[in-house]
Amino acid sequence: MDLFEYQARELFETHGVPVLRGIVATTPQQARAAAVRLGTDVVVVKAQVKTGGRGKAGGVKLARSPEEAEARAADILGMDIKGHRVNAVMVTEGADIAEEYYFSLLLDRAARSYLAMCSVEGGMEIEQLAVERPQALARVAVDPLVGIDQAKADEIVAAAGFREADRAAVAAVLVTLGEVFQRNDATLVEVNPLVKTGDGRIIALDGKVTLDDNSRFRHDWDAYLDEASDDPLEVKARAKHLNYVKLDGEVGIIGNGAGLVMSTLDVVAYAGEAHGGVKPANFLDIGGGANAQVMADGLDIILNDPQVKSVFVNVFGGITACDEVARGIVGALDILGEDAAKPLVVRLDGNNVDLGREILRERNHPLVTIVDTMDGGADAAAEQARA
Ligand code: GDP
Ligand code: MN
Repeated sequence: MDLFEYQARELFETHGVPVLRGIVATTPQQARAAAVRLGTDVVVVKAQVKTGGRGKAGGVKLARSPEEAEARAADILGMDIKGHRVNAVMVTEGADIAEEYYFSLLLDRAARSYLAMCSVEGGMEIEQLAVERPQALARVAVDPLVGIDQAKADEIVAAAGFREADRAAVAAVLVTLGEVFQRNDATLVEVNPLVKTGDGRIIALDGKVTLDDNSRFRHDWDAYLDEASDDPLEVKARAKHLNYVKLDGEVGIIGNGAGLVMSTLDVVAYAGEAHGGVKPANFLDIGGGANAQVMADGLDIILNDPQVKSVFVNVFGGITACDEVARGIVGALDILGEDAAKPLVVRLDGNNVDLGREILRERNHPLVTIVDTMDGGADAAAEQARA
């Protein structure tokens, strides 16, 4: 899950990363009051949205008085930045920026390691820097079991080409950012820009933090839950304890077991090439308990995705045998009634498959096509999605 900048700022502060004072405001009047409380000559009004490039989009503005802060907040609140509506701003002290640097630490899955990236040329978008001046972006592997200790921080600042005189101060901040990453099970901590101020202090002026949802069980992250900016279908699926990820295609997918569902996505994407390039619309693993209610919950979510044109149910009967799954599908169709209005291709295999197919045949639902193989099912579902 991604944090807002103000949440990242708070997390940084807790771990001793130097940040500027900042106050969240959801109305222009609150922004004005925040500027009064900060009491600095210059404040910065910053859109709080979970996307980068706010500055370029006009979502970061300097203000030289509380009145101006109010006016800038009025401009920024309600703005749309890359599809994200601005519901809050953070008013911060203005920094006197002498230099802008870049730092990030992220999970490098392919290398089974962490990767630190650092540059003395921060401020601009890092994708652009990586393309235009790759030599200016140092990449240093970080051992996940060690993290950023003093030696690693020294290595990173040297690789990034910081001046001798700045290295110790920057390295000290990188150690604290490494702690933020590790103690919070983050998969990304990015600071762009990390700045040096006119009076020589190193400060994290922006913060982007992604936390690893898989470790939610050992953290108290309820305050970070932000259903307003999550996909509504994913929110609904979470409430039903379904393992669902919304994708961009047209063929809804239901399967049991993450491995089977992933390979189903592959065969549907492949079969879709022959049917005008239709693609899977989601990942949905209903797990072991494919009973009527779980099946109905899953179908309900998928059928409510307006992009979905057909659904492929691909279940391998194991402990939950195919006849139970078939009863689950039949029961789900009865529960959903008129709401089940898209073609359903069902492939059952495994334990009690004959009985399972028999149950489906008997019910003879007009929307259901029974297929024998996974490839055949993928093809049929892709074809229905195109029609
Ligand atoms: P982003 O565009 O979403 O990455 O938002 P940032 O928080 O990084 O801000 C964008 C840019 O605004 C920074 O790179 C700075 O150049 C500028 N900026 C942000 N805060 C301050 C500040 O306190 N003082 C000054 N002078 N510039 C700032
Ligand atoms: Mn930034």
